[in-house]
Amino acid sequence: MALSPKPDAIVVGGGLIGLTAAAALAERGLLVTLVAERRPGEASPASAGMLAPSVERATGPAHDFAVAARDRYPGYVAFLADRTGLTVPLNRLGILQLALNEKGVRGLKRTALASSRWLDAGEVGELEPALSHGLGAMYNPDDGAVDSSLLLAALQRLVAASERITTIEDAVIDLEPGAASCSARTRSGRRLGAPHIVIAAGAWSAEIRGARLAAPVEPARGQLVLYRACPLRHVVYGPRGYVVPRGDGTIGGSTMEKSGFDASVTEAGVAKVKAAAEEICPLLASTRAPKSWAGLRPVTPDLLPILGPDPEHPPVIYACGHSRNGVLMAPLTGDVVADLVTGTPLSHDLSQFRPARF
Ligand SMILES: Cc1cc2nc3c(=O)[nH]c(=O)nc-3n(C[C@H](O)[C@H](O)[C@H](O)COP(=O)(O)OP(=O)(O)OC[C@H]3O[C@@H](n4cnc5c(N)ncnc54)[C@H](O)[C@@H]3O)c2cc1C
Repeated sequence: MALSPKPDAIVVGGGLIGLTAAAALAERGLLVTLVAERRPGEASPASAGMLAPSVERATGPAHDFAVAARDRYPGYVAFLADRTGLTVPLNRLGILQLALNEKGVRGLKRTALASSRWLDAGEVGELEPALSHGLGAMYNPDDGAVDSSLLLAALQRLVAASERITTIEDAVIDLEPGAASCSARTRSGRRLGAPHIVIAAGAWSAEIRGARLAAPVEPARGQLVLYRACPLRHVVYGPRGYVVPRGDGTIGGSTMEKSGFDASVTEAGVAKVKAAAEEICPLLASTRAPKSWAGLRPVTPDLLPILGPDPEHPPVIYACGHSRNGVLMAPLTGDVVADLVTGTPLSHDLSQFRPARF
């Protein structure tokens, strides 16, 4: 597609955040240039896809945002199906936090949300026979998981088909913000400019010169395994990890490691993840875990995203650092970015995500 001469916005990054932002901007009628370079360790294709605001929990308005992000999903996957013909599987059965000893029972009961409910061992066994060794579980209704690989595929299809989005395979290396616009230079020497630029470059956001408020974003490696068996219907957390049913398999996760931009899988990491998954669901131990992979979460010091305009350079809008909840927050982040760019009043309190907080 020919380069649109005057985009209304440039989006940097082609992961779930950049794609949902570009798609939302195009839906509002804006012309978008998406600059996206593929890199080993991208978080979005690596993710487990959990929608778990009740477990990966924030406080205050950040928690309300996470719950709203979860509840945005049914409408969002319906929108994607309508536009792309792709059905993205969504699991809204609720998430179980399994207790394997009395200390775990007490801890889960003490920290439960008002919206959660305790299930005793009998109830857990009825719901999920493969968990009948557990002492009980906290049940978090409406949480669940999305197939994040298919979500990514549907968004890539939507963006590729959009007449309002031009995609450039390149990397933005620096920004020069002005009072009412921002210009960007790419590695191949292109110069791009627009009234708004959205920084959605995941764990690499801090590497873009001039994206000063992305500096706190760092990579945190997560390793996952996939079992070729699906004994569970629910996403289940245990004391040391989680398992997520996906298709006819089960994902087990995950490590959280500071290893720079090294996205390789390690023997120790896989062993740790398998032990955590198999203590939740011992049946998995009799199945080979044939596949393992790793990705780099874009983490911030408080594990909350950096979302909003630079107060000193409002043309630069940050949408990065989604840490452990980037899949959960992607569709709602896209909506927020489109609101910010179009000057639409915001429907959510973003104070905990303000870019200049660090
Ligand atoms: C193992 C693992 C499990 C996870 N599980 C969950 C989960 O269950 N639920 C959940 O909600 N979240 C989960 N996450 C977190 C979630 O995946 C991330 O928060 C989310 O995918 C971040 O999306 P992103 O678009 O910001 O980053 P990415 O997906 O990393 O995308 C960033 C993109 O920008 C590109 N890029 C970088 N720099 C430039 C540049 N200068 N110019 C152009 N392009 C650039 C990169 O190549 C990449 O394609 C998990 C992450 C990992 C690693």
